[in-house]
Amino acid sequence: MTRQLIAGNWKMNGLKASLAELGVLRSGPAGEGCDVAVCPPATLIEAAVRATEGSTIRIGGQDCHADASGAHTGDISAEMIADAGGTLVIVGHSERRVDHKESDAVVRAKALAARRAGLLAVLCIGETGEERKAGQTLAVLDRQLAGSIPDGATAAGLVVAYEPVWAIGTGLTASSADILSAHAHIRARLKARFAGEGAAMRILYGGSVKPSNAAEILALANVDGALVGGASLKAQDFLAIIAGARKA
Ligand code: PEP
Repeated sequence: MTRQLIAGNWKMNGLKASLAELGVLRSGPAGEGCDVAVCPPATLIEAAVRATEGSTIRIGGQDCHADASGAHTGDISAEMIADAGGTLVIVGHSERRVDHKESDAVVRAKALAARRAGLLAVLCIGETGEERKAGQTLAVLDRQLAGSIPDGATAAGLVVAYEPVWAIGTGLTASSADILSAHAHIRARLKARFAGEGAAMRILYGGSVKPSNAAEILALANVDGALVGGASLKAQDFLAIIAGARKA
């Protein structure tokens, strides 16, 4: 059975005082039977690594530049995240794709940067509400899967997060039927392209996952974990979501 991954994305939230949440998280049963990760803002990565030292909680970045270093004011590289003690990085989040106009090619370059630095890439894909209404969901997923995931991707190095854009931060969650069909489609595409690695690659669901819906979502076929935004900010909520994970 695939070990599920429950990853928290703090987005642009969190000051030093927020590290106390990690203290609560590590004192709970986080990491028993599933993998747990938190991606705080870049300013807190190193302190978060220190705050979770000796636990199984993984710390990561929310984005990285494709290059290892250079004249890119304000950006951070995958190597910098690794140097701060991070072990994973989110790439292609819809807020980056929209706010920073990141194309599939840019996201693919970032996933390659994660590989170069030895980080697990959590690569996000998902359709907007308009694309969904127009019946384009599967076509959008196909385009993003083909364009964003680099050749040679492995289950150990890359996780796909299906995040319908209309469900992110809105309180709207995709129905179980929607999640099942999207994840089955993604699984078929991953297997066709990466064979055994594609069969083993984890597919997370993201979009308004909360304590009240986590167990139902995490029990669905081909759901190998969750990417959690708002509900990861409070350790008690995040722990309740983790409690809903399948135990392997
Ligand atoms: C996210 O930002 O990846 C996300 C899923 O956010 P939320 O859980 O708040 O919808």
